[in-house]
Amino acid sequence: MWVSENYVVSRMVKKYDVIVVGAGPAGSTAAMKAAEGGGETLIIEKCKLPRFKLCGGNVANWVVLKLNIPEGVLDRKYTSITFCTPPRYEKQNFPVPGVYWGVYRDRFDYHITKMATRAGAELKEGVYVKDVIKEGGSVKGVITSDGEELRADVVIACDGVYSTIAKRCGLWDKWFKERGETWKDYQGFCMGVEMKMDNEIIEERFGDSYVIFTGKDISPLGYGWIFPKDGMLTVGVGSAAGMMDKKPAEYLDFFMKHPAAAQFLEGAKVVTGRGAFIPYKRAYTPSYLAGLLVAGDAAGMVSPITGEGIFFSVRAGMDAGSTAAEAVQSGDFSAKFLSRYEERWMRSIGQNLKFQSQVFEETLGKILKIENEPIRREQYEKGVIEAFLKYIAFVAEYSSKKS
Ligand SMILES: Cc1cc2nc3c(=O)[nH]c(=O)nc-3n(C[C@H](O)[C@H](O)[C@H](O)COP(=O)(O)OP(=O)(O)OC[C@H]3O[C@@H](n4cnc5c(N)ncnc54)[C@H](O)[C@@H]3O)c2cc1C
Repeated sequence: MWVSENYVVSRMVKKYDVIVVGAGPAGSTAAMKAAEGGGETLIIEKCKLPRFKLCGGNVANWVVLKLNIPEGVLDRKYTSITFCTPPRYEKQNFPVPGVYWGVYRDRFDYHITKMATRAGAELKEGVYVKDVIKEGGSVKGVITSDGEELRADVVIACDGVYSTIAKRCGLWDKWFKERGETWKDYQGFCMGVEMKMDNEIIEERFGDSYVIFTGKDISPLGYGWIFPKDGMLTVGVGSAAGMMDKKPAEYLDFFMKHPAAAQFLEGAKVVTGRGAFIPYKRAYTPSYLAGLLVAGDAAGMVSPITGEGIFFSVRAGMDAGSTAAEAVQSGDFSAKFLSRYEERWMRSIGQNLKFQSQVFEETLGKILKIENEPIRREQYEKGVIEAFLKYIAFVAEYSSKKS
């Protein structure tokens, strides 16, 4: 009779307090906070970890200090930024407030995931969530790619830029469709490669800096970048997805051969490459429903100026995890209770993101409306630097107020 017993076991549905979907910076910090707060927590990650993630890997010092990231996970320290812009592409160097760190996302993200599992979260990897369980207007769990039903009082969607969970829960309709827009209207597209280079040459060419390049042929609305790491360079281009009039790979190819970039890249060898979307306009609200919280790229929490997202994901992930733990303690999983998550992240990162959207609108947004193409192009180059510098000044002022 073992067959029928097995059948009974396979029909048993496992229930958690909190299920976090995605083990990026948002998901792992959310799971860590939820587990620390006493919630029985499961992380579901579609890749086997550690996983490659296309990213500049430029991380704010706040994250490193807050999560106590050890030196072995950090590849390189940056204290300045270099711009190369048309027409002459001369190097212009500016100090950045404090310190930024260059990391490789496989090692960095996995380190945070291990922090979450050490805090008590369970990890299920190599399995993706294909749907959500909804009952009585509330999210009650997820269904995985192997058909398993996993129940939870709170699901935290940290499943990245193309969030299956947010879409399945009807949030894409609220965020985009009801405004007459689409998901793609909010996305930039990036192409990037990792290149091998001797550390001696890296030191000589980059010092303590990373480099940003502008120019319509490099990126119509966005920029090109070279972030030096330990024996490697992270190289890429990104632009508003709707504004590219060539294939993304053609932009990358043009960029890598451009004399401004070639002076840094000469002798480097491509190891791997990939393309990826990145949200760039604004964080999406509402970021919660009954039984559901959404954090990180899934909720559009990325700087519209720099493309920085790791800091915002970590901050929102922590807010989501703490809120989920409180919901578990109080036994209240209603949208009203969970709305305190949005109040939290509005306080922790909302002002920062809002300021950046404003700067974006006042600088690049205005310039993009200029009809005369040569004038628009010329102004845009200046606008990128202006936007970056305004942001840097904001961060400097914000950090000094905080400290
Ligand atoms: C080219 C590029 C360069 C960037 N450079 C920088 C930079 O230099 N600095 C910076 O701060 N930010 C940068 N960003 C942004 C940054 O990468 C993101 O903001 C950040 O990774 C968001 O973290 P997250 O946890 O929300 O999502 P992710 O890191 O994308 O993690 C989501 C996780 O969910 C998993 N997942 C997805 N769907 C499912 C599913 N259905 N079931 C289970 N698991 C699922 C994925 O496998 C993934 O591991 C860059 C982005 C791009 C594209």
